[in-house]
Amino acid sequence: MKNIFQKIIDGEVPCDKVFENERIIAFHDIHPQAPVHILIVPKKAIRDIMHAQQEDSELLAEVVFVAQELAKKFQIEKGFRLLTNNGPDAGQTIFHLHFHLVGGRTLGREA
Ligand code: AMP
Repeated sequence: MKNIFQKIIDGEVPCDKVFENERIIAFHDIHPQAPVHILIVPKKAIRDIMHAQQEDSELLAEVVFVAQELAKKFQIEKGFRLLTNNGPDAGQTIFHLHFHLVGGRTLGREA
């Protein structure tokens, strides 16, 4: 069964999209933890960071540059967090690799 991010990628479920190209889509998180909380999602079906392969290197680098552009667009470039949860013990709930871009407030040192 498709997970929710695969359905968003396939255009079957709407999202509040802020970026898309052939390889990556980004949209606002439905339950934002900060004024800016965007999910950057490689379209390739990779379960989590532990399932990324050497051949995904360029794709993963592109995520960083998309994050830079979105940080500028949403004016959080002076302070933001780019993170991914790997596995249920880290709080991963959707098993399609994604990166949280979080900012717009002072971020504490909590994990
Ligand atoms: P994670 O816990 O790292 O797997 O992150 C999953 C994130 O996806 C959570 O922050 C959810 O709020 C978010 N989320 C779940 N469903 C949707 C959706 N339909 N549109 C946007 N964000 C979603």
